[in-house]
Amino acid sequence: MSIKSLIRNIPDYPKKGIMFRDITTLFGDAEGLREVIDTLAGEFQDQKIDVIAGIEARGFIIGPAVALALGVGFVPVRKKGKLPAETVSVEYDLEYGSDIIEMHVDAIKPGQRVLILDDLIATGGTALAAIELVKKAGGVPVSCAFIIDLPDLGGADRIRNAGVPVFNMVEFE
Ligand code: IMP
Repeated sequence: MSIKSLIRNIPDYPKKGIMFRDITTLFGDAEGLREVIDTLAGEFQDQKIDVIAGIEARGFIIGPAVALALGVGFVPVRKKGKLPAETVSVEYDLEYGSDIIEMHVDAIKPGQRVLILDDLIATGGTALAAIELVKKAGGVPVSCAFIIDLPDLGGADRIRNAGVPVFNMVEFE
């Protein structure tokens, strides 16, 4: 079965007019889960990644599995106020208002090559903020990777225009 057909589509979630792409059904399928992790690890095995930065919350599901496959560490990028030690933070715009993501200030060693991972890229606002966060923490954002891209929303182009390559496995309109 294809990866795309294992992703469940939920109309009007979290609000009316939004088609939510639900990856829990993909992760619940043994072959689908393996294909996701193998594909992401295969794509980056020769890119000298030092650490994976996974974005809360679904980046926490794929991040550690890919990190194990690559033999590198995993660091969490979290919503404001969740991390216990000293943090660096970046504020970014949402459709309405703004949000803040954080990372421990010592999570990345200076110059380390970082792969940023999340399940899905839409407008790219979250991933762009994660790129800034990695730079603030002293790391080098080597690439951003996602299972799903929504190309109509232009997020991947925004990331590429910021000078960071983007990898994704499937696209939805
Ligand atoms: P962006 O900042 O607009 O690119 O939105 C991406 C963030 O929103 C990611 O952290 C995603 O996990 C989340 N997100 C937005 N839409 C969906 C969806 O349809 N399914 C799962 N996550 C989504």
